[in-house]
Amino acid sequence: MHTPASRRNFLGCAASAAVVASLARVSAAESQSTATAPRAASGTDWPLIGGTDEKALIDVLRSGRWGRTSGGARNREFETVFAQRMQAKHCIATSSGTTALLTALGALNIGPGDEVVLPPYTFVATFNAITASFALPVFADTDPATLQIDAQSVAAAISPATRLLLPVHIGGTAADLDALATLARARNLPLIEDACQAPLAEWNGRPVGTHGLGGCFSFQAGKNLTAGEGGAVVTNDDDFAHRCYNFHTPGGGKPAPSLGRGANFRLTEFQAALLLSQWTRFEAQQKERADNAAHLSRLLAAIPGIAPAKLTPGNTRNGWHLYMFRYDAAKFAGLPRAKFLHALAKEGVAASAGYTALNLSPHVQALAKNPHYRRIYGDAGMAQWLERNRCPANDRVVEETVWLGQAKLLGSRASMERIAEKIADIQKRAGQLARA
Ligand SMILES: *Cc1c(COP(=O)(O)O)cnc(C)c1O
Repeated sequence: MHTPASRRNFLGCAASAAVVASLARVSAAESQSTATAPRAASGTDWPLIGGTDEKALIDVLRSGRWGRTSGGARNREFETVFAQRMQAKHCIATSSGTTALLTALGALNIGPGDEVVLPPYTFVATFNAITASFALPVFADTDPATLQIDAQSVAAAISPATRLLLPVHIGGTAADLDALATLARARNLPLIEDACQAPLAEWNGRPVGTHGLGGCFSFQAGKNLTAGEGGAVVTNDDDFAHRCYNFHTPGGGKPAPSLGRGANFRLTEFQAALLLSQWTRFEAQQKERADNAAHLSRLLAAIPGIAPAKLTPGNTRNGWHLYMFRYDAAKFAGLPRAKFLHALAKEGVAASAGYTALNLSPHVQALAKNPHYRRIYGDAGMAQWLERNRCPANDRVVEETVWLGQAKLLGSRASMERIAEKIADIQKRAGQLARA
């Protein structure tokens, strides 16, 4: 959860920050029974530090092999483990999720004049990877039931200049990969999954990331698997893998034709070692998140006006980066979402309003005035672009959605029950809260 908007939202409830922090510590303590269980640093609820983490870092330090170019083996080990678990033939570790996306776009030689279709309900990094390549981001609308990109809207967003489909598995839930992969094949377009929030999520029983040409992951500080920063590209395509490898490290040396472009987006050995260490706990943590989320969903089903994001039959395993639900103020005596969030925070439950409308944000709108973009796409082209970016369903979604962060889903079952109780209690008092 790292949009400035969502951060502001949390800080807006600063009065209750101490309550929230102490609650998080209690729930972290409740869920970990043994002395060796991973724990959070004091005053935070994420990340969790496990017993193997210190040794992993110190071993790299003492080895003097701090990077993959100085003979370190941790990058390669992590790539092997991650590729295997993701049922992918190749994995290329990168310095971030953003640079994983840039690597994929670089390997495809996406550049000026090319259009890339993405959702508006995503972290700004998806957009940034496209504009850092001087390609034109084109937004497809959101399915309000699932909060994922709407495949029909993707089809409508495709033009003769489209070079790539870049859906996002937001919150850790896979977008409709049947519809998207079918569309990509029909239009002869590559499909890259932005799976930055979705490691271990599955679609039709197969991990996300290789349902199209490839997928990108992030190990940034807030993500479910983290080394502070980090990322990865996975693929089953040898040529694409080699292009990615050569793009991400100068003189990569894999057998792929050069297009004269490249970067240094390597992960350090410290990060790779920390990821390998975190990896040993990741499956268990994801199971815990899934169990808690299922419990919470059962409890919330009894509360009218709270509609958790729909999981479709294709979502055979969810990644649970965010627990997302729609809030219907009408069922809460007209209590506006901001007041609902404030009341929740006062009860010790920190929740976020989530993303604002990315397509309407000043950052995105500024692109229409960017001199490079005006030169590449023309003034008329950029004016038209602003029109194409309308996403009416998403405009409603951003007004009604509420998030609980992934760290909350590692709390006790009792803490899930407390969340549902607090929401039910707010509903009872909603009329009074709305007037206050
Ligand atoms: C985190 C994230 C990214 C970018 O990852 P970084 O590691 O922060 O660069 C991209 N897309 C989505 C959907 C993300 O959540």
